Amino acid sequence: MIEPQTAKRDRVRSSGFDVDKDFGFIRGNDPIPNATPVGLEDALHAIGYGVGDLVVRGVAMAEGTRRHARFFLRKTQAGRLDGSGLAVLGRWGVKYPPLAFAFEICDHDSVLGSGANPSRGWRPARCKKCGLDLTVDSGD
Ligand SMILES: [Zn+2]
Repeated sequence: MIEPQTAKRDRVRSSGFDVDKDFGFIRGNDPIPNATPVGLEDALHAIGYGVGDLVVRGVAMAEGTRRHARFFLRKTQAGRLDGSGLAVLGRWGVKYPPLAFAFEICDHDSVLGSGANPSRGWRPARCKKCGLDLTVDSGD
């Protein structure tokens, strides 16, 4: 049985995160949420592999200062923004190398939905915290 609160959160988050409403930090007024420093080579690998389905120009607040940045936003298999991605901060001059941070608005905690059949690649799932649809279908 689904609790009313869960159903409400599911409805709110079923369409994924919203750039204007949920990614306010890309204007540089708030710190990057749950920021983890990433090596530049690792950041490029992640971008090359697929992080950054949506690229947004903005300003990042990190290490106490605001810098121009590009945000590479990740999408779920269903094409919805999942609230995570990479921020690459530019700095002038070779003396100051660029910085990269992985971030996530929500550190998703996936729970399998009913009808899951992982052995056939069908894993309907939702985040326990924000309600985002995290369904993966890698099946036949
Ligand atoms: Zn979540």
